[in-house]
Amino acid sequence: MVTKLLEGHSRFRSEYFENERELFETLAKGVQQPVALMLSCCDARVVPNIMVNASPGELFVVRNIANIVPPFGRHLANRSVGAAIEYALHFLKVPHVIVCGHTQCGGLQALAEGLGTLEAETPTLAAWLQDAVVVRERIASRWPDATPEVVARQLVFENVVVQLENLLTYPVVQRALDENRVEIHGWVYDLVAATLRVYEPKANEFRPLQPR
Ligand SMILES: [Zn+2]
Repeated sequence: MVTKLLEGHSRFRSEYFENERELFETLAKGVQQPVALMLSCCDARVVPNIMVNASPGELFVVRNIANIVPPFGRHLANRSVGAAIEYALHFLKVPHVIVCGHTQCGGLQALAEGLGTLEAETPTLAAWLQDAVVVRERIASRWPDATPEVVARQLVFENVVVQLENLLTYPVVQRALDENRVEIHGWVYDLVAATLRVYEPKANEFRPLQPR
């Protein structure tokens, strides 16, 4: 199987790299100036750069199970996400931060089913998903009679909302907002239709992105 990946690298060099040689040279000579920090899930079916047709150098990406942003108070237990947020906002001064969830998220499915079954064999994963338990609690209180299918769907959207709130707990994010140099976005990517829904905070709903 890895042979397929190595062959893919050869093809990347002979095709993509050759076609974009000038871009790669420019990027290597300068500093990175990505247009956005994107926080997305590890899921192999969600590929941030391809999804928004971004070239190398345009996206600063953090991927983790269920696109979770641990709140600032817990950042020392989960350094990876916080370090990337601080680097992107303090040093790179990215003008946009996007939390991008997706439908059919296995991490959120596990959360819906309860983390107890994960603890024995995958304790780190179970501990990681604890930061999203509040999402499940919100769904349960808002839709106490919801079917498992509705819960699974709503978890995806509510999880993005909660992670956007968590993002605001970082002083580096607050500073950037105070200085009016960053916009925060919440997206959900639909794996089946390959479409995006965009969070509208005032209406508290996700709206389909209209084709341009
Ligand atoms: Zn996922």
